[in-house]
Amino acid sequence: MTEQVISRSSSQEAVIQKDAKYVMQNYGRQQLVLESGDGCIVRDIDGREYIDCVAGIAVNNVGHSHPKLVEAIKKQAEKLIHVSNLYYTAPQAELAEKLVEITGMSRVFFCNSGTEAVEAAMKLARVKTGKTEFVAVEHAFHGRTMGALSITYKEIYRNPFKPLVQEEKFVTSNDAEAVANAITDKTAAVIIEPIQGEGGINIPSDAYLREVRRICDETGTLLIFDEVQTGFGRTGKWFCKEHSGVQPDIMTMAKAMGGGFPMGAIAAREGIAFERGQHAATFGGNPLACAAALASIDIIEEEGLLRHATEMGDYFMSRLKKISLEGVVDVRGRGLMIGVELDRKCADIVDFALQKGVLLNCTSEKVLRIAPPLIITKEQIDSVVAVLEQA
Ligand SMILES: *Cc1c(COP(=O)(O)O)cnc(C)c1O
Repeated sequence: MTEQVISRSSSQEAVIQKDAKYVMQNYGRQQLVLESGDGCIVRDIDGREYIDCVAGIAVNNVGHSHPKLVEAIKKQAEKLIHVSNLYYTAPQAELAEKLVEITGMSRVFFCNSGTEAVEAAMKLARVKTGKTEFVAVEHAFHGRTMGALSITYKEIYRNPFKPLVQEEKFVTSNDAEAVANAITDKTAAVIIEPIQGEGGINIPSDAYLREVRRICDETGTLLIFDEVQTGFGRTGKWFCKEHSGVQPDIMTMAKAMGGGFPMGAIAAREGIAFERGQHAATFGGNPLACAAALASIDIIEEEGLLRHATEMGDYFMSRLKKISLEGVVDVRGRGLMIGVELDRKCADIVDFALQKGVLLNCTSEKVLRIAPPLIITKEQIDSVVAVLEQA
């Protein structure tokens, strides 16, 4: 790969200044204005290329602007974009059928983002159990709306917005006894990410998840898996729950669902469903989003991306375990959801990689998150590893 020295060009500067003036400054962003992409590559507005190991935060699983995804969106947009849920559309019914097939659940509800999926799961758990509280896990991230925020661990996210939907009720990760002790007669559900994404790529054991399932069954508590980040092939399976074989009562999905088109959903087992009037979303399951999701699922199937993600993930992790990057505490992951934990903050490495043409990001400050499109090749992985070796 050629050396790229990033200085803010006048075209990038103009965009960044306009943002500084007109957009609320709630994001800490890289000094980079992106314009186009294909496959695992994105290009900035000056034409420099980057290997994308962020994938829009585990969203662009089928790569950037996949021709089949673009074609499906174009075709649907020409026909019908939105009509609301006052009417039926074929793409929504078709996608629901497909999701039931790949989740093994019974029915779905459509929304537009991860946090909305978590809100829907919380409402469904409350209305089905008549109970109000949720047990969540330390370092969990479930979103930023008031309900999801109540079960998100980071105090800096939560504290400025109190009172929330409930007081803190977090248990140590990977400790089934802690879950059993936290459940009371007010507990509607236990919510778990089968791999924590924002919390630092933390992988609970399969035995723990199975034990939590047993505890939930015994106490009549619902089990919710938040698969917003782990879904749609990210870990080498359609959903991460397949690794442990544990079937939750409700699961959330979003991020990669529409291949980059905003979309979210929950799926629930037989007997757990909203009834008329209990929940709604104006845009939820609109034909354009559904066409994007159907195309994205098709691509994952046709291109064998579940297997490819497993193979490339194993290759990536084996290469990462061998490099002599100073201060590496741990390399862990499943499929192409990989974390490299350091003994220090990793912002410097992210900046260095950007200079060298690789997009990375840190999660939980000390963990480099590697979540490229599932179509990444060995050659691209080698280039990324070479950059990390220099870091
Ligand atoms: C990203 C994420 C969310 C929130 O999704 P948004 O689309 O940003 O609202 C919720 N849960 C998990 C596990 C996530 O990774």
